[in-house]
Amino acid sequence: EKARLVWLEWKENLSKDDDWLPPADGLYGKMKRKTGTINVLGMGVHGDVAGITTTSGLFGKIPGRIGDSPIIGAGLFVDNEVGAAGATGRGEELIRTCGSFLLVEKMRAGKSPQQACEEVVERIIYVNGGPDKVDFNVKLVAFNKAGEIGVASMMGEEDNPPFASVITRSGLRVVTGKSLLKGKQ
Ligand code: ASP
Repeated sequence: EKARLVWLEWKENLSKDDDWLPPADGLYGKMKRKTGTINVLGMGVHGDVAGITTTSGLFGKIPGRIGDSPIIGAGLFVDNEVGAAGATGRGEELIRTCGSFLLVEKMRAGKSPQQACEEVVERIIYVNGGPDKVDFNVKLVAFNKAGEIGVASMMGEEDNPPFASVITRSGLRVVTGKSLLKGKQ
């Protein structure tokens, strides 16, 4: 029931010019989104690379929208010779840039995972007309066969950078990445 009420309020807020009434008392605005789409990338003991991107956690998707999560090359790409990449955020942008595929290909060409993540974010900014034109977020994570890790997002705050949780034999650590458009979130 709570999700239905949140959805109703979201519908009401889409436009001032439609027939949906204004919200009574903001559930949608108050809702904390603790859940969403996640990427999990891994390497087995024999060096084989694997990865998954969960079913898109996007709120209020229009019926029939597939998004980037289940499209190999957009929300996820794995290459056993190179490494793996996953993406979250505005799926349409990851589909039209083949974001995860592009990222892995950049690593194949010699870029570090961090460089490759940042270059894909830059590419998405570029195809949208530059930093002033983007009002959405994307986040990319990747690792290569050498075990190097990269994380980059478009929007972010100085005190809230994008990160990846990394589990190895030595335990859990957090790898902090870079937001290319700081402070725009
Ligand atoms: N990438 C997902 C989509 O556009 C949304 C998300 O990452 O939460 O469907």
